[in-house]
Amino acid sequence: MTSDCPVRTRLLENGLVVNVIAGTAARADILIADERIQAIGEPGSLAVEPETVRLDMCGKILIPGLVNVHVHGHGFFSKGMGDRWPLELLIAAGPWISGCRQLDDKRLIGLIGAIEMVSKGTTACYDLFAETPHPTAEGLTAMAEAYAHVGIRATIAPMMSDIGFYDAVPGLREALPAELAAAVERFNPAPYSDSIEACREIIDGSPNGDIRFALGPTIPLHCSEAFLRACGDLAEERQLGLQTHLAESRLQALAAKERYGHSLVSELDRLSLLRPGFTAAHAIWLCDADLDVMAERGVAVAHNAGSNMRLGTGISRVRDMLDRGILVGIGTDTCSCSDNLNMFEAMRDACYASRIRDSDHETWLEAPEILRAATIGGARILGRDDEIGQIAPGYLADIVCLSLERPHYMPVNDPIRQVVFCEDGTGVDRVIVGGRDVVVDGRVLGVDLTDLSAAAAATLVELTARVEPMRALFEKVEPHVSRFYRSRIACPI
Ligand SMILES: [Zn+2]
Repeated sequence: MTSDCPVRTRLLENGLVVNVIAGTAARADILIADERIQAIGEPGSLAVEPETVRLDMCGKILIPGLVNVHVHGHGFFSKGMGDRWPLELLIAAGPWISGCRQLDDKRLIGLIGAIEMVSKGTTACYDLFAETPHPTAEGLTAMAEAYAHVGIRATIAPMMSDIGFYDAVPGLREALPAELAAAVERFNPAPYSDSIEACREIIDGSPNGDIRFALGPTIPLHCSEAFLRACGDLAEERQLGLQTHLAESRLQALAAKERYGHSLVSELDRLSLLRPGFTAAHAIWLCDADLDVMAERGVAVAHNAGSNMRLGTGISRVRDMLDRGILVGIGTDTCSCSDNLNMFEAMRDACYASRIRDSDHETWLEAPEILRAATIGGARILGRDDEIGQIAPGYLADIVCLSLERPHYMPVNDPIRQVVFCEDGTGVDRVIVGGRDVVVDGRVLGVDLTDLSAAAAATLVELTARVEPMRALFEKVEPHVSRFYRSRIACPI
């Protein structure tokens, strides 16, 4: 809900400005004209017009807006649901915890997620948004409206499949009693041609401004070969990004070997999907040869360490990726598995997880490189690194101002490390997107959280009744999926 005031020329004075490329922070003035950064200079050095509005940033650290490269708009209402759920139980619970949304619900849920993200420093995101049985232009528009209303940038990818979960994993349907195997058929996705047709309609109506579209075949195992090829063709034809969940769980890696006779990376490479513009979310269960192919093909990775720990899926080989020149961005994943859309936590989790993965401290991820991944890395994944991701002249003015009047900056020993290791989002004082204030004094402009909270509570009552059959079915299916999962996790890959 951006301000209606015309954008003015503004001077952000004397802030501690972070240069994410150099990994440094220094006092500087930033001149913003319209939506872009016009100039940066030492404090007091820039010539400005008398009518320029001056903002004192002496007590602030200024960082580029964070780019969250992996979220799911359909999951923004699912925070705190489920506890000891590995990925496969989360997917089984999907129709209950993320299903039966009507258009108004989608808009409200999108609004809540966008508000949470921007209030914690995210100014752009890559949203794999699912609707069943296939994506719709109306649903995608509702999400796009929510992001635009709050004032953040988003690339929205319809998340799609044409093979249901119980058929995607070899042996899973057979592990269900006959009556449950029949009952879960209601979750089968639409034929892929319906999804591709819907995508064409969505792309044709795409405004191509701050809200853009991409394609999200959800998990390779959940998509037929013909569907994956169709996604690849459409992405190439319309120059769109592609994002999928790649080797997120051990069970997926096992299932791929069983179904394809080789790894998920080999399968996607066989289908010519691996190319610049392709983003692999999670990318955990990969061997050296997989990483080599990914590097060679120029694909990127969306690293979601918090989600990976919440779901127990594993820890991604980020250092090995960076060593090979693979582009890495940072994501939170969605509220059903991370749960609070907080990029500061996602950055810290990424650093800490690398230390658990490998005891050789020289491989550990450092704060400056993770801040780069969460800004420039994300901007490159969105295909917008020529205009967002850094505080530099000519770039769009997407700037997060963190208050130094928070205990976690007392004292300031090392600004960048403290942004990554100490900041929890409570320091976010002001967020500027494209030169406009979206957050001021820690509050998202134009948002009445009391009203929003009441609307969320009312929607929850309606949704809870609507999804009750899905919840009841999950309760019956859960022990069987759980037993199947536990029987497979001990198998060697
Ligand atoms: Zn995901």
